[in-house]
Amino acid sequence: MDFDLPSPGSIKGRASSITAAFIQAIVPVLEPTPEEIAEALQILGMQSGQCVCAYCGDPRTEWDHFRPLVTAKQPTGYITEIANLVPACGKCNQSEGGKYWKDWISSNAKRSPKTRGVVDLAERIHRLEQYEKWRVPRKVDFEALVGAELYSQHWANWQQLLQLMESAQQLALHLRSAAAKALANKPMQAPCEDVRA
Ligand SMILES: [Zn+2]
Repeated sequence: MDFDLPSPGSIKGRASSITAAFIQAIVPVLEPTPEEIAEALQILGMQSGQCVCAYCGDPRTEWDHFRPLVTAKQPTGYITEIANLVPACGKCNQSEGGKYWKDWISSNAKRSPKTRGVVDLAERIHRLEQYEKWRVPRKVDFEALVGAELYSQHWANWQQLLQLMESAQQLALHLRSAAAKALANKPMQAPCEDVRA
């Protein structure tokens, strides 16, 4: 097909990134020591200064959460700490989404390391298995840590925001169709002379 109509997108369609943001925003971040970073790289078979994507070997763009922070719109309890981070590239990070790394890495998912034909995949999987065994990952129970009242306030804010997005979406739909209708009643302007010259 030669043509794709751009989608107007939707305000409501952003709900899942809002939910993820509400979870990510409360996850504790523990900064690693240089020794911990060195140990992590060693387990992953990398030299200091030559840190690449642990999944595929491409240049690293970020340290990605090894175990997801969010599953099924709920916090998993895992946090941002060195044992729960691996160097990754944007392609792998996007392709993995929130899946468990081991299910994803040798799956036929779009742009997964297997799909992209990464040659040393078995060796990479072995390293990542060692990494997974490195430490018992911390898992937090937010409600127990911060108290039920504040925690439920956070989710009440989330609910309110989602409701506002819902009503904003309805208004937006109305505005779009009203604008389109008004436009349909206007005569088209004649083309500029010089275009056809
Ligand atoms: Zn990668």
